[in-house]
Amino acid sequence: MPSSTAPYIGRFAPSPSGPLHMGSLVAAMASYLDAKVHHGAWLLRIEDLDYDRNVDGADAAILASLRRCGMTWDGEATWQSRRLPLYEAALQRLREDGLVYACGCSRKEIHDSVLRAGAAGNGAMVYPGTCRHGLAPGKVARGLRLRVPDGEAAVYGFVDRWHGALRQHLADEAGDFIVLRGDGYWAYQLAVVVDDGEQGVTQVVRGADLLDSTPRQLYLQDALGLPHPGYLHVPVVNNALGEKLSKQTGALAFDTGTPALDLLASALLPAARFLGLDVQANNLDDFWRRAIPAWARRLSERP
Ligand code: GLU
Repeated sequence: MPSSTAPYIGRFAPSPSGPLHMGSLVAAMASYLDAKVHHGAWLLRIEDLDYDRNVDGADAAILASLRRCGMTWDGEATWQSRRLPLYEAALQRLREDGLVYACGCSRKEIHDSVLRAGAAGNGAMVYPGTCRHGLAPGKVARGLRLRVPDGEAAVYGFVDRWHGALRQHLADEAGDFIVLRGDGYWAYQLAVVVDDGEQGVTQVVRGADLLDSTPRQLYLQDALGLPHPGYLHVPVVNNALGEKLSKQTGALAFDTGTPALDLLASALLPAARFLGLDVQANNLDDFWRRAIPAWARRLSERP
């Protein structure tokens, strides 16, 4: 459980690649409820650094949908694209510590060398370290990678408040990872760690699709001298085909014409049910009043 001495700061950090959908609503609801149960703050951060995936107006639509659902955030919402000097400063520190190197490998080259090495398993492309000791002659830097430790130091474990104890061997399961992409965009892993640290986030509540990013983020926090927040990853909403719902497939009608009661029936109650919350409600206020203690009960059933 979160420590009772540190003030609780949680956050919801959607990418504006489309409107809020069932999957992101579930993550938003879980992080909001967790902040409320702990009498904490709930921040909203728009993760808009993958400029190729941003959809015009999606950020405003997400903000409006959250408000319509009754989820109001504390303080001003932030946009990662307005915080670039923070990422630059973090990179500078990693460089000074000799933890970063230029990588000239294309995705295809990495894929081919992983196949050659006969790596199988979880399907993740573990970077084989080709450029670790410098770029081969004729290779052009495409991005910057962070060196992960070898041996025992590569094992990063944490206790997820939903899934229990988890661990990952960073070198074997993730490999040196990108912090600045070849297209010049800041990588998600670096930006999320810098922002969670700078914003004082103490509890990260998000979808389980990010579970395997957490060990990399714990390592980056260590490398940058930042504290480790607590983590809780809620199950991901899949469609009938078992695929993770995307903004394209899980669209919800949040437009301003939708009556609040329909929002309750078509979005909030199904999201709560998905989280295993037994909530009946006739209006939005009633919903949140009941959902907060239901979340506390749900958590007390977890490991
Ligand atoms: N921006 C990420 C997403 O929309 C979430 C990042 C996080 O919660 O750490 O999937």
